[in-house]
Amino acid sequence: MKKKPINQVEHHSRKERHYQGIASAPGILEGRIVIYMAVEQNIPLRTIDGREIASEMERFEKALLATQQELLEIKKHVFPALNAHEATLFDAHLLVLEDPALLKEVLQLLHRERLNVEHVFDIVIKRFCESLNKRDSAYLRERILDIKDVSRRILNHLLGKPTLQPIDQNDPVIIVATTLTLSDAVMVYGNRQAAFATENGSQTSHTAILARAFGIPAVVGLRHVISELKDGEPALLDGYHGLLIVNPTKETIRGYQRMQLEQRDLDKDLEKIRDLPAVTQDGQRITLSANLELPRELESIFMSGAEGIGLYRTEFLYLNRATPPEEEEQYQVLCAIAQRCYPYHAIIRTFDIGADKPTYCLPPIKEANPFLGCRGVRFALQHKELFKAQLRVILRAATMGNLRMMYPMISGIDELREANGILEEVKKELRDKKIPFQEDLEVGMMIEVPSAALIADLLAREVKFFSIGTNDLVQYLTSVDRGNESISHLYNPAHPGVIRMLKMIVDAAHAAGISVGVCGEIAGDLLFTPLLVGLGVDELSTSAMLIPRIKKAIQSLNVSACQELVAELLNGESATKNYARCVALAQNQYGTLLSIGKGTPH
Ligand code: PEP
Ligand code: MG
Repeated sequence: MKKKPINQVEHHSRKERHYQGIASAPGILEGRIVIYMAVEQNIPLRTIDGREIASEMERFEKALLATQQELLEIKKHVFPALNAHEATLFDAHLLVLEDPALLKEVLQLLHRERLNVEHVFDIVIKRFCESLNKRDSAYLRERILDIKDVSRRILNHLLGKPTLQPIDQNDPVIIVATTLTLSDAVMVYGNRQAAFATENGSQTSHTAILARAFGIPAVVGLRHVISELKDGEPALLDGYHGLLIVNPTKETIRGYQRMQLEQRDLDKDLEKIRDLPAVTQDGQRITLSANLELPRELESIFMSGAEGIGLYRTEFLYLNRATPPEEEEQYQVLCAIAQRCYPYHAIIRTFDIGADKPTYCLPPIKEANPFLGCRGVRFALQHKELFKAQLRVILRAATMGNLRMMYPMISGIDELREANGILEEVKKELRDKKIPFQEDLEVGMMIEVPSAALIADLLAREVKFFSIGTNDLVQYLTSVDRGNESISHLYNPAHPGVIRMLKMIVDAAHAAGISVGVCGEIAGDLLFTPLLVGLGVDELSTSAMLIPRIKKAIQSLNVSACQELVAELLNGESATKNYARCVALAQNQYGTLLSIGKGTPH
């Protein structure tokens, strides 16, 4: 099914077209559309023996075929919109696939080098492009682009992953893709001139989380939009309302410029409270900390007024690389975090590898249901040496500041004890070797699996703190895939079942005298601030860019009113009505902070 524009405005010879998706990272960007369907890869390297040559060649031929089908499919969709020159480019791409010299050279190199076919293919393509580059012909230079484009598609098929090449243009671009992987998103870090629009995904998908962390406006869940778009079309991405506007009229652009000015004024106002604590009107103090994915975000985190790091997703250290990080490298990163955060704490989450955060530096795990599979602490317990190395690093680096540690995806007490058992083993080894480390490192756990939530009272006796991972907790409790845009309307943290579970967790933590934070995306969602305050959560950890608004919201609330809201929602039958109630309260309390959500500016 094709995505139909939800709105069209005639403007000279062009039509303004609106596509509605899910608002996933705030911000506005006007730029040209770049469709990413094929990309530069980190090519894994593996030696093969002579018996594998035939199967590697077979894989290669399958990838060629799949690429050919993909190109024909795209051509079919976009052909009516192409001019004659563009259409011949597609044909040029298809010709590359049929070049017998390509197959011959790959086969020869497989025999000679005995390396995996992705690697061999990459060598062949690079050599080919180099030789064309030396030729003094514009036509041949254009061919290089074709070859690179097709070869990226082939590599995607061989590796089974779409990725994005780094953006090096200075002109603003709206990157439109079916899916952007985490590695793709990381490559766009620091590029203030980029925005993301994806066909798949939802607000809590990890790519959306990264976009927010990097301050890149993003809209996800724009289903089947790519076939409607053309590379280079002028567009505007509105990350506040989840809109992609193609061919925006001058009036539309002016409306958005006005909106950006209003935002800037609000940001200036918020700067004034940057160094103040997050305290409600009636004196309830809440720690506001930041989520960290890449160490290079550290400075912007502290600019936002964060009181430490409530979640460092250490699995990002294992992304985009061929081999896992050495202990020394990890140690340097954690020391830098500990020192920069001091006297505030930084909660280091042990790696949550698996599901939508696979790493290419470790053997791939093939699973039918990765989100229910070997991820988080399960993965750690099955890769004990890797886990021990990380624990060693955390224990050692904790002497440099105020580090705490927590495990992701704990589903029951046995897993927690097994992980703690390994921690004790590591401590003993360090002690024996007389290596200094933090003996009394505070160990906590994430509550993001319903079975753990239901025994929160038992778990609370064995840890120093809880951090609720609502992204996963809501996903597992309501059986709604957090990344699936087609059911995103069912992903609702205001569901009475979710609220009852949150209350159980918070109450169990407080009864046991331990603190409880929330580090899932609702911690940064203004609509849920009164709910979390009313529940009595001690710490909210979110993307740095959202902290000033959340702080302002907390400062305008009264705990008693928030508790009334919680009492009402706990008994509310309908998730939709509960949600509407959260919206109404937020509007009432701090409508100006939400004003950007009131409607589109034209
Ligand atoms: C969560 O599940 O809420 C969480 C914070 O962890 P992640 O998003 O990394 O799964
Ligand atoms: Mg999680």
